Amino acid sequence: MAHPTIERLHDVERLQERVQGTVILPGDDGYEDARRVYNAMIDKRPAAIVRCAGAADVVATVDFARENALPIAVRAGGHSVPGFGTVDDGVVADLSGMRAVHVDPEKRTARAEGGTTWGVFNEATGAHGLATTGGIISTTGVAGLTLGGGIGYLARGFGLSCDNLVSAQIVTADGRTVTASDRENADLFWAIRGGGGNFGVATELEFRLHPVETVYGGPMFFDMKDAGNVLRFFRDFIKDAPEQFGGFPAFQIAPPLPFIPEDRHGETFLAFVACWAGPIEAGERALKPLHDVAEVVAEAVGPMPYPALNGAFDALVPAGLQHYWKANFVDELTDDMIAAHLAHGPRVPTVNSTVHIYPINGACQRVAPDATAFAYRDANFAPVIAGMWPDPTQNEANIRWVKDYYAATAPLSEAGGYINFMAGDDQDRIKANYRGNYDRLVEAKRRWDPDNLFRVNQNIKP
Ligand SMILES: Cc1cc2nc3c(=O)[nH]c(=O)nc-3n(C[C@H](O)[C@H](O)[C@H](O)COP(=O)(O)OP(=O)(O)OC[C@H]3O[C@@H](n4cnc5c(N)ncnc54)[C@H](O)[C@@H]3O)c2cc1C
Repeated sequence: MAHPTIERLHDVERLQERVQGTVILPGDDGYEDARRVYNAMIDKRPAAIVRCAGAADVVATVDFARENALPIAVRAGGHSVPGFGTVDDGVVADLSGMRAVHVDPEKRTARAEGGTTWGVFNEATGAHGLATTGGIISTTGVAGLTLGGGIGYLARGFGLSCDNLVSAQIVTADGRTVTASDRENADLFWAIRGGGGNFGVATELEFRLHPVETVYGGPMFFDMKDAGNVLRFFRDFIKDAPEQFGGFPAFQIAPPLPFIPEDRHGETFLAFVACWAGPIEAGERALKPLHDVAEVVAEAVGPMPYPALNGAFDALVPAGLQHYWKANFVDELTDDMIAAHLAHGPRVPTVNSTVHIYPINGACQRVAPDATAFAYRDANFAPVIAGMWPDPTQNEANIRWVKDYYAATAPLSEAGGYINFMAGDDQDRIKANYRGNYDRLVEAKRRWDPDNLFRVNQNIKP
């Protein structure tokens, strides 16, 4: 009998015969590039990377992984901070070549292939003056972000990305392709709206769209001495601010941009990233209360197409940085919580690193906690401590900053955090993330993936 590793290698080499796309194996040209994900700290060596050309390739890759008992990682935008878009000694279903988006302007829906990024999606829907809730960086994947929930500028008005999901085509662990929607496989549809990649591979996601053309937005920078006042203002203002208001405060080192006074480049500010998605003529008025809180040192706020705002900060977070992130949901930005932010936020270590405090009230809270897998429907804020830096020799110091910040804020927060913002060492918090929905997720996992083929994720064990 052949040695199992040799047999497996042979099978991997035959995988190319089963797919239309390209199979990249160790030693092939392009393997080093193809195995890389967005977070350069992740250094995994898959046995094969399948650049899927379409849904049939996804089925073949899932079948192959299952038949050969190999772990499978699914990649769309590749932004997973814990590096769930790749895996050691397993197969990567890389959907990054599947980015077609079809918009139906009459029905106000869009169907996006499973590897689409928000930039591609927003350009396609923006051409019709339409949008849905997506992430704040254009290179993030639509699938990974939506299946985990989906927080962004438009969430207060339109709900999370997953709340705007109408249906999805899912390749299940047994290699079938099924529709998940309110009408078909409703338990699967429930589970994928927050449950991440645990239940299968989404080859297509259909979204509800909303009229959004030009937004009034951009960053404002406040002196750090005013940070407490701005955060306290934000806490109170956002409670019943119009839902077209989708901005968030951030601790941010000023990049060398022309709108920031040159002598203040490199200084740490309390930034406010504003997005008003209502009538443009009301934009200035909507943001006036922020200007009344404290002097604005620099700002680049104005009318711009929504896709432009979605790409405005891409240059701050290029691929290839080191990443370590932590997160908890928060009910109230209490004075103690604000004090914890003021103790750690000003020490943000690099221009790429940041802390964002996203508001998730409004439409996000009008969905019942058990209506989708995403359970934290009463939380008002989803902050993220996003450590990002270029130099791997600085890993220890940067990770320490994230951990210390987290240690100060976690006791004042909810037990669970948004799964898309959590670290690889957060697997023990999975139950807390899903609260009362966890048992139902386990039930769905047992039905749709009883052998846990899809386990390279924030894993729900069957
Ligand atoms: C720079 C940056 C900005 C971000 N901004 C936001 C933000 O504004 N709002 C927000 O909510 N989140 C944000 N995130 C977090 C983001 O939601 C997660 O990192 C998400 O997992 C990224 O999805 P992806 O497709 O790019 O990642 P990938 O690494 O490709 O995939 C991530 C996870 O999703 C699963 N997955 C991917 N595609 C599929 C598919 N087609 N079918 C089934 N499972 C799939 C994978 O198995 C994996 O577990 C950001 C992350 C980064 C790095």
